[in-house]
Amino acid sequence: MAEETIFSKIIRREIPADVVYQDELVTAFRDIAPKAPTHILIIPNVLIPTANDAQPAHEQALGRMITVAAKIARDEGIAEDGYRLIINCNSHGGQEVYHIHMHLVGGQPLGPMLAS
Ligand code: AMP
Repeated sequence: MAEETIFSKIIRREIPADVVYQDELVTAFRDIAPKAPTHILIIPNVLIPTANDAQPAHEQALGRMITVAAKIARDEGIAEDGYRLIINCNSHGGQEVYHIHMHLVGGQPLGPMLAS
């Protein structure tokens, strides 16, 4: 069984986090080290370590992550200008926390998709 990360404690409100949205499937909170004026992490409440572990049974939660990202972007006032949704996977993807998460970043022009 996959090992829990600090994100499970955030979902259960056992440690402090700036939670901006939570429902029965997903939780969203501000990144502790923001890389842009808006930087929010959206995660499923169920532990899926990486994108490689996504199963058909997870599709509802994984789909909710995108609709919630769109709602948060509207709430943050960045929907019209645009933003970026990022899921890092494993070492080449730069994943640090092994509870799948979608970064919602925006609030300024983000430049090229990948550093060259
Ligand atoms: P990744 O590199 O895609 O795994 O991203 C992990 C992200 O989690 C980083 O942007 C961290 O700043 C963020 N992070 C780690 N711990 C916390 C925390 N306790 N609260 C909020 N964000 C966190």
